[in-house]
Amino acid sequence: MQKLADFIWFNGKLIPWDESKIHVMTHGLHYSGAVYEGERAYSGKIFKLREHSERLIYSAKNIGLDFDYSVQEIMDICNLVIEKNNLQNAYIRPLVWRGSEAIKMYHDTLTTNFMVAAIPSNPEFRQDIRLNIGKWRKMDPRSFDPQIKSSAVYATAVLMLKEAKQQGFDDCILLDLDDNIAECAVSNIFFAKGKSIHTPVVGSFLNGITRQFVIKMLSEMGFAVEEKKISLNDIDQYDSCFMTGTAVEIAGVAMIDTGSNVQNFSNPIINDLQKKFAKEVGKICESECAKSF
Ligand code: PMP
Repeated sequence: MQKLADFIWFNGKLIPWDESKIHVMTHGLHYSGAVYEGERAYSGKIFKLREHSERLIYSAKNIGLDFDYSVQEIMDICNLVIEKNNLQNAYIRPLVWRGSEAIKMYHDTLTTNFMVAAIPSNPEFRQDIRLNIGKWRKMDPRSFDPQIKSSAVYATAVLMLKEAKQQGFDDCILLDLDDNIAECAVSNIFFAKGKSIHTPVVGSFLNGITRQFVIKMLSEMGFAVEEKKISLNDIDQYDSCFMTGTAVEIAGVAMIDTGSNVQNFSNPIINDLQKKFAKEVGKICESECAKSF
């Protein structure tokens, strides 16, 4: 990958970006023995760093990784990485994975590795997102805890996203096994009509840190937020639809193509939501915002 920052923190020390190499026999690559986070820094401060660090530990522990960093240690490392790379507005990627000591599915010699990378990023807010519906569903939550942010579950999202983009969409909606809307590939989804906001009930999808923050923000703004089951047959009652997540921040959906129907959203509230979100997280988004994320 092209060099996007000077240093990566890798198993205990900062090393130059180009020297951050691992072996092809890495267990995390073969058997998805890896968990990760995605975080954003705004003006040098990482948004919800504690929550992300806690989730990384939760994820590592729940796929059985021996990961013994404390929340404070992880936070210090993430802060060090943006500081040493002189980053103000950035995307941060902590990753924990099983090493390359054995090819067996499980072996007690497998080590746990930890790296934190960060790259400059401050995208412009989107209001023009076009969604289709992924043909693969979210996994049964009895098969894998959806609150674990593990590479093991991203195959569905990556494939559905690839297909959506190849068909001219920006992202896709993933349904759960009961035909309810769950989320988008790597972000949560909300619908609104007037002051009333609906978002799917957490069950089969990741309860995003941004989602939880936005629900509080919306309540403070005087919206009534309700978590409820939403199917594709329900979406024509809404005038707004938006996505939340570390990558998209808060993005307006202009259109959903369900396959049998095209639903457009005028999104009368999205400007206010993005303005408030930017203020709350400390995002300064003028000329330096790149569309490149
Ligand atoms: N759902 C999935 C599947 C995700 O990967 C993400 C990104 N972490 C989200 C939702 C949004 O979560 P967050 O707001 O914590 O970034």
